[in-house]
Amino acid sequence: MERRKFMGAAGSLLAASPVQAQKELEAGGTGSTSYTVPVTVERKQSGKPHHGKVLAAIQPHCDDIPIFAGGTILKLLDEGYTGVLITMSNDSMAGTGSSIGDIVLKNERDTKEVARRLGLTEAYFLNYPNHNMDGWPLLEMRARLVFLFRLLKVDTVLVYDPGALYERNPDHAVTAKAVESACWMASSEWDYPEHFKAGLTPHGPKEKYYFARGPQLVNRVVDIGTYIDQKVWVNMANVTQGPAGSQGAVLRRALAEKGRKLPLLGDSDETANRQYTKTFALARDRTRGQAHGLEYAEFFHHIPPDESDVEQYVAKHSVPL
Ligand SMILES: [Zn+2]
Repeated sequence: MERRKFMGAAGSLLAASPVQAQKELEAGGTGSTSYTVPVTVERKQSGKPHHGKVLAAIQPHCDDIPIFAGGTILKLLDEGYTGVLITMSNDSMAGTGSSIGDIVLKNERDTKEVARRLGLTEAYFLNYPNHNMDGWPLLEMRARLVFLFRLLKVDTVLVYDPGALYERNPDHAVTAKAVESACWMASSEWDYPEHFKAGLTPHGPKEKYYFARGPQLVNRVVDIGTYIDQKVWVNMANVTQGPAGSQGAVLRRALAEKGRKLPLLGDSDETANRQYTKTFALARDRTRGQAHGLEYAEFFHHIPPDESDVEQYVAKHSVPL
């Protein structure tokens, strides 16, 4: 048989087969194994569809969440979520300051301002050693996260992708790993049963938005066009470290000393910082949006709540006795 005809016949056979045509379910540790993932564009929803739900934005350092997930958090909160910010490291190794202690304090203040500008109700600091989190027991991080997930009844997490490639910062990789395992164990009635004596109940996040700095499986593109100016303002809160802060004002001053200026940066430090952040620090959001016909977007590997074939079957086929 001619190859093209054979492939055509095989293709129609596959399409007709109920086994082959069925989509593999997304379900925790036994979910789909495919590296080919369909991409969903998540757009702004009207009303408050997420009313009553709680999210935790978890980051090793104070600029991670604002850069990679700030727009999505603003969107989810606008749609009814409440949420908290959890920062894993003490942020002692990055930024400008007179000493390590000074940098820690400045980053701590910036982080609280980031949480406030995002609309998150609280900022938790777990205080692990910056750049050295891989020397600390993962088990302890997991245990503390399990406690927080149960205490705050977290439904959804946003964090670095534990499956991302080429991540050179150990704090990013360790945080991702700790969160991934804590989400699952927090739901268990057997892990840390002393929590239940203190009044907590098993409760773990069922939905995840994983972002990355290297290659990852991207199956969720979140349209953040409506929130880009707010995201810019959030990123401007990180003045001690990060790519935004007051970089615009710094560039404007450096140019002025050479007798030059960029019209883009306007005539004030505030305008310079906003324009610099939107144009340069968050340029990736524009590039990512344009790839999907949007103005600005954030990319994630999104893991939905577990799908159950039994529940789906029962809902469709159960009949009265
Ligand atoms: Zn970081």
